Amino acid sequence: MQKELIMDEAELIKLNRFTRTPVTAEQVYAFPVVLCDNETDRDGERFSIAALEKLSQLFVGKTGIFDHDPKSSKQTARIYDCETVTDSERVTSAGEPYTCLYAKAYMMRTDSNRDLIAEIEGGIKKEVSVSCSVGRKLCSVCGSDRSEHPCGHIKGRRYDGKLCCDILDEPGDAYEWSFVAIPAQTAAGVTKRFSETPADTSEEISRLEKRLSIALEAEEKACDMLKREIISLSFMTRPIMAVEAVKALTERMSFDELASLRDRLKKQSLASCDEGSELFEKPDRQSGANSSFKL
Ligand SMILES: [Zn+2]
Repeated sequence: MQKELIMDEAELIKLNRFTRTPVTAEQVYAFPVVLCDNETDRDGERFSIAALEKLSQLFVGKTGIFDHDPKSSKQTARIYDCETVTDSERVTSAGEPYTCLYAKAYMMRTDSNRDLIAEIEGGIKKEVSVSCSVGRKLCSVCGSDRSEHPCGHIKGRRYDGKLCCDILDEPGDAYEWSFVAIPAQTAAGVTKRFSETPADTSEEISRLEKRLSIALEAEEKACDMLKREIISLSFMTRPIMAVEAVKALTERMSFDELASLRDRLKKQSLASCDEGSELFEKPDRQSGANSSFKL
């Protein structure tokens, strides 16, 4: 991807908005850089297209740094132009047209930048990290803003065949971007690492997805077993809960919640065995633990 951009007059005008004194084409090295896109990343997050469009404005004028190495702190590049580019031929895993944030950056041609320029030219520095703040993280399944309305959909799990992820929306500010060995760390906001070698990224994603789905499948099986156990135990408790009611109650419970409910029902059913039919006459003696699960 990195290849020197041709500095014609129109490009120079755009670039010179950011320089103290106007520069000539010979004084600068300008190159394209893809900052991020709308593909779901390894954190199970993706930018909305609207967010990318907003970011294309926010990143103009922002400084890029290299590896966060203090020695190279003077080696910086600045974005002088940025836009979203859509590849209508390519569809993301979420079914959207692939859209990326395409920026043009420049740096001064100085002796201290010479090696860096060579590395960029040679395609060695490929991975880019961006950090920005986002106003909302939306559930991709139901669209609810997770920070305000936790919806219970689990990131990484599939619902009707669709992978649940967080959609990063309404970016507030763009902080920085960098070529990285280690991704940028920002106290607040989101840091996203982006590689221009999509094959590796998608391979990594599918590998993680596979591992996650195996783990989730195992957890689902364990949850199903617990649910069945809870239904049988519920027949031994007083008052008897209807099967449908138990099913509805346990539907959205996590593994831990199910295990704790099972343990409480077990304890209670053992207690009611000891007390025999007394429970029918004295429902007040039921434990407080049980009452929290009464419907
Ligand atoms: Zn949801």
